[in-house]
Amino acid sequence: MQPYYTLTENDKSFYRKYLQSRLPSKIYDIHVHLNLQEHVSMVPEERWLSDWAMEIGHVLPVDDVLACGEQLFPDSHYAVNGFPMPVKEADLRENNRYLAEEQRRDNLTAFMCIMPDWADEEIERGLVEDGFLGVKPYPDMVSGEKGADIGIFDFMPPNQWDIINRHRKAVMLHLPRKERFSADQNVKELKEIRRNYPDLVIIIAHFGRSFCPFFLEEGLRKLGSAEGFFFDTSAVLNPKVYDIAFTRLDPEQILFGTDMPITLFHGKREWTDRTYINLSSEDFSWNTDRRSPEEEATYTLFIYEQLRTILDAIDRNGLTGEMKECIFFRNAEQLLQGVQ
Ligand SMILES: [Zn+2]
Repeated sequence: MQPYYTLTENDKSFYRKYLQSRLPSKIYDIHVHLNLQEHVSMVPEERWLSDWAMEIGHVLPVDDVLACGEQLFPDSHYAVNGFPMPVKEADLRENNRYLAEEQRRDNLTAFMCIMPDWADEEIERGLVEDGFLGVKPYPDMVSGEKGADIGIFDFMPPNQWDIINRHRKAVMLHLPRKERFSADQNVKELKEIRRNYPDLVIIIAHFGRSFCPFFLEEGLRKLGSAEGFFFDTSAVLNPKVYDIAFTRLDPEQILFGTDMPITLFHGKREWTDRTYINLSSEDFSWNTDRRSPEEEATYTLFIYEQLRTILDAIDRNGLTGEMKECIFFRNAEQLLQGVQ
């Protein structure tokens, strides 16, 4: 296995203190990017450096994520739902093929990455012959930028929505636009999608890119009812976001996700109302806001910080053990069973 991180004594004691007795017996991670080096070797280095998240990690084979899961969560059974790292320049077709094969071997469940200009037949083949349970469209496929000011139908046109709906599969939706979930146009398009495809499973990634509470609060207010949508927790660490999610959403709408390999670094996050900064003790080009060595020595893995935040919010908001199990694995099991 590649050294994605070093599990320090500090990490192990963080796990024992805050996670070990509180994590459920199973974890089903709905949001992981998986590939082999050869699927992204043609992507220019500047591309990784242009995005803090992709600079942290952009290669993670299936065997390795399972080994990471065993090491990071030694007392829980870790299962994974994965899809390629959605980068326009990558070899997405080969990456999809690799994940389909791993799914056939029962190593994971998988969604296929799709490009907006792919023919309907190709997507149908992925769903029917390769057995993908859903798709992962991405704003980057049009713009080369993940928060781009484009519409949902620009990176996943209506004909593709029709296909996924017809085959009763799922969509992992990463919202575009800089106002994220709170963008009027995003809310309008979500309503339109809900109206046209009332039974389609739609998972809104990162609570609609609500890494700060403002976006989730506003998005839910504008949407009126979030009924019929699912949301994943991937890369969200803000306690207030979870307070809103756990009071405004049904626990059955929330799916645990990590966004590995991006979350495999030592660090944490600080926020204002609408922005965040990532702090890290590691050497990344974006890591310019350094704290004292003593303070940085206390940083644990970002993914551990995320888990503690979720578990604390579950306790603080009085969610039951059963609700916790729903969020960590039952919802994913049930939802993915329904799109087989
Ligand atoms: Zn992701």
